[in-house]
This record gives sequence, C-alpha cells and structure tokens, in this order.
Amino acid sequence: MKDKKLVKKKISSSNLARRCAVCGKKMHIILYDDRTYRGGHFFGKIPLHRKKEIQKAMQSGTRRVKFGKLVMNVLKVDPKVYAYAEYWECEKCYS
Ligand SMILES: [Zn+2]
Repeated sequence: MKDKKLVKKKISSSNLARRCAVCGKKMHIILYDDRTYRGGHFFGKIPLHRKKEIQKAMQSGTRRVKFGKLVMNVLKVDPKVYAYAEYWECEKCYS
C-alpha cells in the first residue's frame, strides 16, 4: 500500500459581500487562500468610464462589430477607464 501524504492546506477564508449583476441579489462570497471561491460566479472586471470620456469617444464615431450573433456598435476609440467593477452573478442567474 502506498502511503499517501496528506497535504494539509492552510485555508483561511474571508467573506465578500457582492451583488448579482443580473438580479441584484446580495451574495456572500467566501474567498479561500488557494484562490477558489464559493457563493457566486465571477466573470471578471468591467471597465468603468466617466460620461465625459464616453462622450469624447463617441465623437470619433463607432464601428459595427460582430459579437457572436449580435452586431454591436463599438466605439472606435476607447474611453478612458477610471475604475473597474467586478461582475458577479448568483447561482440562480448563472445556471
Ligand atoms: Zn442573480
């Protein structure tokens, strides 16, 4: 029989309060040291722009971009980003 070494991971968890971007439900996200989490689904960060920057970018026009089956108007020039918002969805909206 092989002796399996038990790897004891020191996992400390911390809690995050996040809101579902789809339904607005409050979620309690538990973050672990090994970079896993529970309680919601994280999709990444969304850049936030100030209105003024968007208007500025709008002035340089848009172009049509195929996004899967959708055709979207995308700005030719990206507006300046001042912050990033995290995008989360709850279990219900994710499934
Ligand atoms: Zn939701």
